[in-house]
Parts: sequence; C-alpha cells; structure tokens
Amino acid sequence: MRSTMMDYPLVLPSILRRAKEVHPHKEIVTKWHDNSVQRYTYGDFYKRTIRLMNALRNSGVRPGDAVATFCLNHSAHLELYFAIPSIKAVLHTINVRLFPEQLTYIINEAKDKFIFVDKSLTPALEKILPEIKGVEKFVIIDDKENCEAASLPNTITYEEFLSKGDDTERFEVIDELEAAGICYTSGTTGNPKGVIYSHRSTYLHCMAVCMGDGLGLSEKEVVLPVVPMFHVNSWGIPFASVMSGCKLVFPGKHLLGAGLAELLEAEEVTITAGVPTVWNVLYQHLKKNSYKLKLHTMVVGGSAAPRGLIEGFEKDFGIEILHAWGMTETSPIGTVSHLRSFMKDWSDEKRFAYRAKQGVPVTGVEIRAVDDDGVDVPKDGKTPGELLVRGPWITGSYREGVSKESFTPDGWFRTGDVVVLDEYGYMQITDRKKDLIKTRGEWISSVDMENLVMADPDILEAAVVGRKDSVREEAPVIFVVPVEGKKIDAKRVHDHLKSNFAHWQLPKLEDIRTVTAIPKTSVGKFDKKNLRKLLEE
Ligand code: ADP
Repeated sequence: MRSTMMDYPLVLPSILRRAKEVHPHKEIVTKWHDNSVQRYTYGDFYKRTIRLMNALRNSGVRPGDAVATFCLNHSAHLELYFAIPSIKAVLHTINVRLFPEQLTYIINEAKDKFIFVDKSLTPALEKILPEIKGVEKFVIIDDKENCEAASLPNTITYEEFLSKGDDTERFEVIDELEAAGICYTSGTTGNPKGVIYSHRSTYLHCMAVCMGDGLGLSEKEVVLPVVPMFHVNSWGIPFASVMSGCKLVFPGKHLLGAGLAELLEAEEVTITAGVPTVWNVLYQHLKKNSYKLKLHTMVVGGSAAPRGLIEGFEKDFGIEILHAWGMTETSPIGTVSHLRSFMKDWSDEKRFAYRAKQGVPVTGVEIRAVDDDGVDVPKDGKTPGELLVRGPWITGSYREGVSKESFTPDGWFRTGDVVVLDEYGYMQITDRKKDLIKTRGEWISSVDMENLVMADPDILEAAVVGRKDSVREEAPVIFVVPVEGKKIDAKRVHDHLKSNFAHWQLPKLEDIRTVTAIPKTSVGKFDKKNLRKLLEE
C-alpha cells in the first residue's frame, strides 16, 4: 500500500526560505582580515542570496554548471553556499591549501565555470591560469586584506556581480536527488576523487547534525565553525546552522590563539568545531590568558582527538570536547561520541576513554567492521577490522565511477579506516590501513602510540610513522613537538610507552625525534606521507 504522504522534495532552498520566515532577525557575524566585524541578519542574508541567485542566472550559469568558491569562512561564502545549489548549479568548494597541480586537476575535472575567490587568495589562481582555461569568470570577494588582487582575466568584484541580480524571488522545482555540491578527497594517494552531494543527502545530513545526539545545533546556540568551509562543507555546519537558526560567527582568517579566543568571547559563542591541532593551540593560549567564554562544546574531528586534550578542556575550562568521525565520502558526519546516560557514574578514567573513541553512528548511518575476508569481527573492543559504512549521505560511487577497492559488492563504502567496535556500538579508530606499522609480522597502531605520547602535558604534538628496518621489517619513529619552553626527554617518552606497548613494538631511543613542528596536510592533519619521505631522505 502506498502512503498518503506528500512526495515533498528535501532541497536546500526550503532551508533558506525557512530561515527568512522564522529567524529574520538572527545575526550572522564575520570578522574580516582587517579585524573589522560585519553584522547582518538572516533577513539581509536572504535578500542578498536571492540577488546572487539572479545574478548567477543573468550571467549565464545554467542547471548542472559547476561554480567554485576559493574562500575562507565568511558571510559571502554562506551566500554562495545557498545561491549556487538553489539555481540547480553545483557548489564546488575548493580547498585553498592544495598544491598547484591538484588545484589545476580538480578545477578542470569539475569543469568550474566561475570561481568566486577571496582577494588575498588570488595569487594561488594566478599561478595556474594557463592551465585552467575553462574558467570564464573570476569574482573577487574583498576579504579586507591589505593587499592588491593578483591579476586575473575577466574579473568582477563580488558587489558588482551582485548588482547584476534583482530582488525577484524565483525558485524552480528541484529534484532532491540532483547535485547540490561537489567536494574532492584530499588525494593522499593518487589524484583527488570527486564526491557529489545531492540536495537530499545534504538536507538529511543537516538534520542529523542538528539532532541532540548529533552535534546538537539548535536555535539557542551561537556557532563558530573553525573548520574551513572548503573542508567537506565545514562538516555541514553552515547548512545546519541556517536550518536551525543559530547565530553564526565566521572567523575569516582568525583561526588561532588570541584572534580566535577574542572572537569566541566577544560573540558569546557556545559551539565551535575544528581539527585537534587548532584546539591544541587554543588550549595552550587559554592556559596563559584569561577569557570569559560561554563555550560549552567543541566538536573535534578529522584526526583523533587526543584524550589528554579532551580531559584538559573539561577539567581546566569545563568545555566538552565532542569527538566526531567522518570523511569527504560521508558528507562528513558518520559517528559522534556522546556519553550515554548510564555512563554518567563511571570513573573519570573510563569516561574519558569513551569520549576519546570516535563514537556511535548518527541516526541514518550504519557501520560494520570486517576482516580481510569480509566477515564481521566480534564487537569486543579489541578485534580490529576495516570500517564499512552506508546511509543516505554516504557516497555510492565517485564521480569517476565505482571501484572495487572502495565499495563492497553489496554496496557498503570501504573507509580504509581500521577500527574496533565494542558492546555498546562505540567505534574507535586504531589506524588508517596505510598508516599501520608492521613489525615482525604484527601491526602497531600509530594512532594509539601518538595518543599515549600526547598524554604527556609537556608534549604538544606527536606523529608516528614506520621506517624500513632490516630486522623488524618496519620500526616506529616518533616525531615530537614539545610545549613552548619544555624539553623532550626521549627516555621518559620511551618508559611511558612501556605501559601500553610490548617491548618489540617500542621505538629505539634515537627514533624519538624532537622537531619544531610536524608538517600538516591541506586540511591540518599530520602529513605522514611527507614524514615518511623525510625518513627516506
Ligand atoms: P583524507 O581522506 O584525504 O584525509 P578526509 O577529510 O575525507 O580526507 O579524511 C577522512 C579520514 O580522516 C578518515 O578516513 C579518518 O582516517 C580520518 N578521521 C576523520 N575523523 C577522525 C577522527 N575523529 N579520529 C580519527 N581519524 C579521523
């Protein structure tokens, strides 16, 4: 029997319209590069987005065209987030930290028609101009950096572009399965791969983000996404904030230490989100300086949140670190680690251990862990398996097609993450398949080792990679960055590791190497490919 329910599409313009109807006075704040603060309301945002939609139409953007952004987090970027998909074009958020070859590759692969670019970021595009001939227009957003825009052909300023559109509200019918956005994986192995989000997948993902057991974005929250809007759509947070009517605060380039802390304080931010390295720096800053923060939740993902960081923020500042896991292929929120009601009386030791896990799947997502033969591993918290995932906002293929390595024959996405599952359904990543270290035929989890090393309060960051070893096959090498003013004692690190690692897993003392910084990837993760290269050299 068919239901009597309306077949009503889940599309982004309905989020936009609701924001105007229900929250027209809510604020959207941007701190631009010159520290000036721009404030406007959802009502203003709606009007400008309508104008932008019409300007895009009048400039020749047609359904299915890819329109790219090359921007940091600010209000104009939010306008583009909604205007582009609302006229049935495809929002391509380009990672501004990619190398020139990767930039060229994805711009050409996506067939970007226009690129909206922050003035201060124009030099990166100028460098690859001869290679990206398909781009018809560059629209320059004045990010208020004290610099000249680099010379690009066919440019127009963002405000001039907007003036090409009028205020007529025109919404066409959109099939919810049509493309709304495209993101590329960061291409740690081979070329980046395209993942195309639909209106429906983005809408449903937003709802999961807003749920209390998701990231809990509701109208009463003030949200500041530090995670860049070019990194898997800032984990869906801008879309979900508009869906809920949260006050939104965009940090522009103010992503670290004092610049960020001042903004968190001034705008009374309650929820923020970013990768662990950002929170590490903020933690050190907050220890030395005093702020009155209203912050209650910091979402952490992208890499494992070290337990020490989770414990430090809670004990020193009463701020909860909410650990989440996801990938470009999963829109990205897949799992979140909230403690359950029955865990509240557990010891600190056990509670923090759970908070450091990547958590349980959010409603809508299903996960499994399987061995090399594709058989489910026991949910005992210790048997590792590859994480498989499926759900309405998990990609079913790449733009380039379906590959056997990435999908099982029955349609689960293979994440390449090695995990353990426990009796309560919590997932913990022990490594990425390619980062595991094989010593004497056994695997060592680089992530476990890093977490134990980073539990030392004198250690800011630690990254572990394998080096070739004639006897052990591979041996772990630990790169450690001390907290400012502290020194690393390799012997102490080594002794500390003995508590959790067998002697054959331990690094040699000379393989515990102090460095001033650990190289990071374009999205702020430890760049292990680079570290391995360093070792080879
Ligand atoms: P890339 O695959 O190029 O790193 P993504 O941003 O899609 O780009 O990263 C997805 C990967 O990041 C996951 O497969 C996982 O290995 C890692 N990751 C994401 N969140 C977490 C987390 N909370 N803890 C540990 N690893 C994480």
